[in-house]
Amino acid sequence: MKNEHKISRRKVLSGLGAGLAAAAVAPVFGAEGATTSAEAAAEPLQDPTSKFPKPPFKAQSQPWPGLASKMEPRPDHGETSYKGSGRLAGRKALITGGDSGMGRAAAIAYAREGADVAINYLPAEEADAQEVIALIKKEGRKALAIPGDLRDEAFCQRLVNEAVRGLGGLDILVNNAARQQTKPSILDISSADFDATMKTNIYAPFWLTKAALPHLKPGAAIISTTSEQAYDPSAELHDYAMTKAANMSYVKSLAKQLGPKGIRVNGVAPGPIWTPLQVSGGATQEKLKKFGGDTPLGRPGQPVELASIYVQLAASDASYATGQVYGAGGGGGQP
Ligand code: NAD
Ligand code: MG
Repeated sequence: MKNEHKISRRKVLSGLGAGLAAAAVAPVFGAEGATTSAEAAAEPLQDPTSKFPKPPFKAQSQPWPGLASKMEPRPDHGETSYKGSGRLAGRKALITGGDSGMGRAAAIAYAREGADVAINYLPAEEADAQEVIALIKKEGRKALAIPGDLRDEAFCQRLVNEAVRGLGGLDILVNNAARQQTKPSILDISSADFDATMKTNIYAPFWLTKAALPHLKPGAAIISTTSEQAYDPSAELHDYAMTKAANMSYVKSLAKQLGPKGIRVNGVAPGPIWTPLQVSGGATQEKLKKFGGDTPLGRPGQPVELASIYVQLAASDASYATGQVYGAGGGGGQP
């Protein structure tokens, strides 16, 4: 054991030596147009407080579920910026709500990391979805567009089956779609509203997980988008916040159940992020205008800023992370 340790340490050191030697000659290669990893890493530091748009924002409202293409400013999902490095080469992923917001950022990043991707969305979001499909195809990856309403159990089963058939299997399931409608009082939430929120945010992941499980092998990953609302619920998001707490619990419980099978389950808890959900009934106009302004970074997050978290939780080098919830809240919120 001791010897093994010594050998591997020596190997590491000699490897490091080679790395340093390469770095020392890097300018020569650089001059000929090649890029070393040391050079690629040498991007200028960016100030996170001024990297993306800040409030005040223009008042804007769209009919639910809203389109990213009609938002001002347009959200950044990494279309021009996300760079992959083969972290998900050959993986097959299904992402709900993959047309816009965090789901789109994950879809673009997954494709650039080498994965084939199926996205689900509502038929009204076809225009947003087609932009994502084009971006996935541009990476030379398989792209499946499977529109449909997740409030229907039979559709959830069909969605998984179509994704498995089209992709030739399934390694990553991202339960990301959600309904959020702001209401000042519990008295304003009808039973139909309540039911739609529960069906979309709690039942759909339950149905999708049951349908997907027979196809998931050891090494597969399930990711759920929960929220800071799971930990610090807003008064006016009563029903939605309850579902996000449920999503958090889904992660914690399912990770315990599926750990022995080698399937990891993790969550992402965003803070205020600039997505169609917020401009299609998710926030009041008052809240939208100063959206994200009360976080320590002084602005809302952009979907692209969470892309690497979805990649990390799906990648096999994160093999000891399960039952975790990763936050991205600009310094506010939990976890
Ligand atoms: P988004 O509007 O871009 O994505 C939500 C998606 O849910 C839609 O694109 C739509 O395709 C899908 N959807 C909703 N109802 C559906 C249904 N019945 N059937 C099929 N698809 C349906 O907004 P987003 O903010 O990127 O939302 C993604 C996730 O992020 C959600 O789980 C949301 O709760 C979570 N979240 C968002 C914020 C935020 O500030 N934007 C903060 C915390 C958590
Ligand atoms: Mg959408």
